Amino acid sequence: MKLILFLDFDGVLHPQPCFQDNVFCRLPLLEEVLREFPTLPIVISSSWREQESLEFLKSYFSADIAQRMIGVTPLYRHPAFDHLKNPSVDFERQWEIENWCDENQYHASNWIAIDDYAPWFEPECPNLLLTSAATGFILEDQQRLRVMIKARLP
Ligand SMILES: [Mg+2]
Repeated sequence: MKLILFLDFDGVLHPQPCFQDNVFCRLPLLEEVLREFPTLPIVISSSWREQESLEFLKSYFSADIAQRMIGVTPLYRHPAFDHLKNPSVDFERQWEIENWCDENQYHASNWIAIDDYAPWFEPECPNLLLTSAATGFILEDQQRLRVMIKARLP
């Protein structure tokens, strides 16, 4: 089963709220871990995808990481999804992630999401690496991420 990583920005790549002087301040810590797992593709789940194209979002990252970014998740609130039966409205970001997996031939259970907002995921979601919004992705999260990836890589 292919593993895939879903990435939030605010509260992960920088503290939330973020200011101009600390925007993307945690990115080097994350990219360091991602380089240890060069086959792992990345999809953007951050709400930044509502404002900017994938190509533009990639420009915030180092080139070697950017080239592994293969998409953005669909918007739960998009009118195209109105007809869907029983979307899990309580866990909107998880729904968007699982929907992306279904659409792109990835298994809907073998993913990792890095995010600072637990209510968008089912309680105790084992796929969620929850960061603190106050700090973003920190040193301890590096080790948590390594463990999660190693446990799920085929
Ligand atoms: Mg966030």
